[in-house]
Amino acid sequence: MNRVQYEAREAIEEKIRSGIYVADSVFKCICGHAVFEPVAERDRYGMNVSIIMCGRCGLLVQSPRFTEKSYEQFYKQEYRQLYSINHHSEPYILFETEVRRGKEILEFFNDHDVSLAVGNILDVGCGCGGALQPFEAFGWKGCGFDYDDVLIKYGKSRKLNIFTESAYDFNEKGRAFNLVLMNDVLEHQRDPLVFLAKIKKILTPTGLVYVQLPGLRKLVYNSYPDILRDFQLAHTYYFDLKLLDSLMFYAGFERVCGNERIQALYRRKRVTQSLNEINMDNYALEIKKFIRDLEKRRFRLFWKNRKLRFMHNPIPAIQSMIFFIRQSLY
Ligand SMILES: [Zn+2]
Repeated sequence: MNRVQYEAREAIEEKIRSGIYVADSVFKCICGHAVFEPVAERDRYGMNVSIIMCGRCGLLVQSPRFTEKSYEQFYKQEYRQLYSINHHSEPYILFETEVRRGKEILEFFNDHDVSLAVGNILDVGCGCGGALQPFEAFGWKGCGFDYDDVLIKYGKSRKLNIFTESAYDFNEKGRAFNLVLMNDVLEHQRDPLVFLAKIKKILTPTGLVYVQLPGLRKLVYNSYPDILRDFQLAHTYYFDLKLLDSLMFYAGFERVCGNERIQALYRRKRVTQSLNEINMDNYALEIKKFIRDLEKRRFRLFWKNRKLRFMHNPIPAIQSMIFFIRQSLY
């Protein structure tokens, strides 16, 4: 953690102590099951973040978690500082990262033979809105919103049609979107079903929803393949592709294509298929097995995922290895 991150963590902890940030507990999983098991009590920055697992479907849930009002303040005031690594959160750098992501999404559509007629595109939690730019270059009409005023202001200076707003307050004004992008958004939602119901309302009948988030199973390829390092205050849920399919099913969507990274595209569920519910019984056993295996293999994976770095840049690689071992043993 750098100085900015330490200061952000202190500010959050002070607001929790003084009752400015308030949290409440989750009593029922999205699948309807009400029995959970504890998984972790701290997040990657050592904050008191408790993660529990649904005993039926294996969904990992942060509980207790902030109320909607507390999250809104947190995203406006500390979020970017807490997750900033050096200067990577500067708007002009973030913008370029977002543009690259927009191009990646177009490539993903291309790779999966998804042909889309140009139309209205909405980027939810758009940051500076950079992901819209490659779409606009093809004639799409872009729109986006985010909590963060600084990022929105920067995006506006790049001539993008974006606003400071939350998904819950977003006023569609009769607009309907052919494509909705959710890059690193769904795993931050307090109530994803309420959020997705709102999205569904502003989607055209044949509209598509693109979801990108850090997939649970992708952890085996991370430079720090340790699940405890993945848990964080800002993430309320953790999904693999099947868990995401299940959430989307409950929200009235079905998958067109996707991978475990996760990049996935969904459309409205067809009426004829609405009875084919995804069977999540005992999926918790598979998630538990995945976590156990990851824990067992984490040092081997750490070496495997960093072999090239060790060869090209041995000293920082060795330093990071010592750091990983000390952190993982802690
Ligand atoms: Zn569940």
